[in-house]
Amino acid sequence: MLLDFHTHRPDATAALISVDPRHFDPQPGLWYSVGFHPWDTLLPITPGDIALLEQCAHHPQVLAIGETGMDSLRGADLETQEALFVSHLQLARGTGLPVVVHSVRTAQQILAARHRAQLTDVPLAIHGMRGNQHVARTWLDAGCYLSYGPRFNPAALLATPLDRLLIETDDAPVTIHHVATLVAHTLHRPIDTILHITTANAQRLLT
Ligand SMILES: [Zn+2]
Repeated sequence: MLLDFHTHRPDATAALISVDPRHFDPQPGLWYSVGFHPWDTLLPITPGDIALLEQCAHHPQVLAIGETGMDSLRGADLETQEALFVSHLQLARGTGLPVVVHSVRTAQQILAARHRAQLTDVPLAIHGMRGNQHVARTWLDAGCYLSYGPRFNPAALLATPLDRLLIETDDAPVTIHHVATLVAHTLHRPIDTILHITTANAQRLLT
């Protein structure tokens, strides 16, 4: 059972723990996604690093690739970030795993890169969704899942179909139940419904 779709807490249970392959140290009973964070691209990612990522991606406790993506405010230039993002997509295609995406003001670039690489069938989950309802619509029309943390745009959340909804703590000092409470309140749904739906969505996406 997996409830928290994206966290960086290394001991989180019922969660998808996002780790850099260079720090991958799987612990019994925990689940992981592996990828190079866009912020960590100022120092070059080497072919050896990519080989390590591929190796980690085949570990049985790894359920997704990422977080990866593009950030217009931090990290290497967007061309470098895009090339690295596409290599994560290719690995996702090869392994059959979905991709956890970090995007800051790059929705169009991310979707265009996926299209150019002819990898539109690779499932994407947009983590830390904070854009407005128009941004949400762009992602949803491209078939993406949207993962919401403690800070979000209520109109975007209300525009998200329940079968595309995920929740996460990321690096915020909150529990996933707190996030579920905030989401439930905005959607005028019981918290148990939100817990049930988001768990089922994560299960469907990751298996
Ligand atoms: Zn994160």
